[in-house]
Amino acid sequence: MTASADTIRQVVQDVLAQLGKSPKSLAGSHRNGDWGVFQTVDQAVAAANEGFDKLSEAPLAHRVTAIQLVKEICESQAEELGRAELEETKIGRLDHKIEKLKIIKLVPGVEFLRTDAISGDRGLMLTEYAPFGVIGAITPVTHSLPTLAGNVVNMIAGGNTLVVNPHPSGARIACEGVRRFNQAIFKATGLENLITIIEKPTLETAAAIFSHRGVKMLVVTGGPAVARAAMESRKKAVVAGPGNPPVVVDETACTENAAKSIIRGAAYDNNLLCIGEKEVFAVEKIFDSLMDNMGRFGGYRLNNSQIDALTKIAFAPPEKPGDHYHLNKELVGKDAKVLAELINVRVPAGTELLYGETDESNPFVPEEQMMPFVPFVRAKNVDHAIELSLKHEHGFRHTSLIHSRNVRNMTKMGKAMDTTLFIKNGPSMAGLGLGGEGYLSFSIATPTGEGVTNPLTFTRQRRCVLVDDLRVI
Ligand code: NAD
Repeated sequence: MTASADTIRQVVQDVLAQLGKSPKSLAGSHRNGDWGVFQTVDQAVAAANEGFDKLSEAPLAHRVTAIQLVKEICESQAEELGRAELEETKIGRLDHKIEKLKIIKLVPGVEFLRTDAISGDRGLMLTEYAPFGVIGAITPVTHSLPTLAGNVVNMIAGGNTLVVNPHPSGARIACEGVRRFNQAIFKATGLENLITIIEKPTLETAAAIFSHRGVKMLVVTGGPAVARAAMESRKKAVVAGPGNPPVVVDETACTENAAKSIIRGAAYDNNLLCIGEKEVFAVEKIFDSLMDNMGRFGGYRLNNSQIDALTKIAFAPPEKPGDHYHLNKELVGKDAKVLAELINVRVPAGTELLYGETDESNPFVPEEQMMPFVPFVRAKNVDHAIELSLKHEHGFRHTSLIHSRNVRNMTKMGKAMDTTLFIKNGPSMAGLGLGGEGYLSFSIATPTGEGVTNPLTFTRQRRCVLVDDLRVI
């Protein structure tokens, strides 16, 4: 039996694609992708591997340029891109969609890759931070382009390239961002396909990335299902998983600042942020004052029957014993006004957040609702409030908050919750550098422990030793 030239070419292409190499001489180049946007995982991974080889040969200055361009595009085109993301995903708020792109400039770059050194009698040891190669990134619908852009900055700073499987409902804007980033990077540096993306992502394309030999590491940002899938994969995975951030307000808190902060955090992009305030446990002594202040700064209080009506449309009851309530995704990220209208309530213009008193059995308390209604539960005292917080955070160890002037209470809660972010006396975004100290990333690695991801998260440590020399002092 003799194989035709075409058959042989096809077999070679398939083998090379599986290895993550592009068969340049045989079948066109990665330019077949539309500025990084590809139809298949094999094509995207092959192009990203070629992009990685070129980036590895390029001067460090090219990484700096690429990152700078991504940040500039996010800032200067935030209005247009933020609007497009809202139109496509139909969740969240335009002002915050725009802001989330403008703040990509807070994501750190190559300055994080400082070589560590030990100099001693036996010479010199260096620890250098090397790239992994092609990183597979899975991004959420809640911040499609911002998560992608933040990942791009962190990963390229570390010398890596990317293959992205975006959420299908935010894929168009993610692809548009990738095209713009790659075009600008190519124009300035000649480097191509530092970022590749699957145009029509599915669970199958995600699975193909998870198992592809050309992908060296995974970063997933999303809810429980994808977090589980990544933890079960055989690759190193950085998992930015779900949360359900509780807020404790104790009797020493400034209830005005607490109310303003809860509204700012929970209303941000209609409570889509994984760090956003999702339920409040306030002690009896200041409960009423806190509720009143919520109403003064943009909150609208629902009464019991209105809360019941909202709860009924926001959740489906558990299907079997031991199950939990199921969130109605149609309501996720909708405006407070829209939620209110659904239960025949008209709220004043400027209402940012709905709130009301519930007990802890209301599903808004244990479930990550991602919509602008926040339940407030009365606690007997701060210990009770912390106990409830711990219970309803479910051990995600993601984010928790307290409003207090008592450092003992802060310490007690910090120790008990053991969360990746612990924010005191401010809105949740203060934990990501927005109104607080620190740098930004939209991927906060929780179960795998890397914390707010940064360029070092995406590097391998390499030790370089010179025996008996170069200690020059
Ligand atoms: P989602 O879990 O529905 O989707 C996230 C991504 O995972 C999407 O790209 C989706 O297509 C993919 N996916 C889902 N199931 C998968 C599976 N079994 N295998 C492979 N891929 C799969 O989440 P979402 O609605 O897009 O985002 C909201 C969730 O993400 C919330 O739970 C939120 O807390 C979490 N989140 C966490 C962080 C963080 O930094 N820790 C940041 C943003 C969002």
